[in-house]
Amino acid sequence: MQIGILKEPSDRRVALVPDIVKQLQDWNVKVMVEHDAGAASAISDSDFKDSGAEIAERSVVLQNADMLITITPPSQEVYDLLKPQAVVISSFEPFNRPEVVQELAQRQVTALSLDMIPRITLAQSMDVLSSMASIAGYKAVLLAADYLPRYFPMLTTAAGTIPPAKVLVLGAGVAGLQAIATAKRIGGVVEAFDTRLAAKEEVESLGAKFVMVEGAQDDKEAGGYAVEQTEEYKQKQQQLIREKAEKADVIVTTAQLRGKPAPILVTAETVQKMKPGAVIVDLASSTGGNCELSEDQQVVEAHGVTIIGNSNLAQGVPMHASQLFAKNIMNYLKVFVSEEGELNLDLENEILKSSCIAHDGHAQYAQ
Ligand code: NAD
Repeated sequence: MQIGILKEPSDRRVALVPDIVKQLQDWNVKVMVEHDAGAASAISDSDFKDSGAEIAERSVVLQNADMLITITPPSQEVYDLLKPQAVVISSFEPFNRPEVVQELAQRQVTALSLDMIPRITLAQSMDVLSSMASIAGYKAVLLAADYLPRYFPMLTTAAGTIPPAKVLVLGAGVAGLQAIATAKRIGGVVEAFDTRLAAKEEVESLGAKFVMVEGAQDDKEAGGYAVEQTEEYKQKQQQLIREKAEKADVIVTTAQLRGKPAPILVTAETVQKMKPGAVIVDLASSTGGNCELSEDQQVVEAHGVTIIGNSNLAQGVPMHASQLFAKNIMNYLKVFVSEEGELNLDLENEILKSSCIAHDGHAQYAQ
């Protein structure tokens, strides 16, 4: 089998790294990589060649690939060059873009969507969402520190004492927990909030304070994802967030609802009451944002507060993001590629059943 890897057109990461290419050779799986695909992740063509990959032009990679793996979904011209019935692995986000499933089925490709891998213990080692969210949480705090006109840690100097920065993390999932850990490491005082009560223990184990609003909706049936809350809960929550936000120097927001717009947690009115110089990093900006004033892929200033809207901060650490992504892919491939390099798509397998969204001309996903 031949895997094709492209240079991502608008992303600094690359879908496989040389270590994983070497492991794939033991399975009789060949890898062809587009020229310069790893450059932004500090992986040269010769690093890939040394690991056994072949370097080629984009069109040659596409014409030879039995399986194409990309970080962002391929553009239409990619499918024109692919072999019929090739397997395409990417994060297609069918829950946000349901029309993509029919398009893929019409293209006759087998589409495996990494963001549909179920959140079960067995699949944890394949979970690219978690790997990337963790990097984003880390990078969000570094970015906030960079924009903040003040120190993060408490400092006692001959010229006076500097109090520590106050950090508020909204959404204490994978990204939020890494943001908490990073903010603590550089000396911030951290509070965090989540609708899932299970997050309380995790937040506290990192040395941060958990802020609680009573009466959250049960999310046990949502496959590890949060659910939308009642109007009464949202109002109580906004009141509490407003009080905390007024005192915060940094707010990192990470709250997402699968297939729905992100909940507004920081209103325009709250921003108006924040300290001048404060920074908000909104990791949910691609689905509308947790801050009413954030704009996706933009840094805006409102009432003296800097608001950074970016849901793709993982690519800001491309070397390790690519390494973790590639390792997740290797673990995922073990589900349906035999050690002899044969494709074995058992669509009854729980992981494959959830993540295969198009096969044999049929859409496999219903919202
Ligand atoms: P996510 O990206 O879907 O959401 C981020 C966080 O925002 C979540 O903690 C969510 O509860 C929170 N949130 C949503 N709405 C909110 C609101 N209105 N107010 C405040 N917070 C809100 O979630 P995630 O970070 O990917 O993961 C959440 C949980 O799922 C974590 O406990 C994680 O460990 C678990 N998980 C398990 C697996 C697995 O077992 N394979 C994989 C991924 C995640």
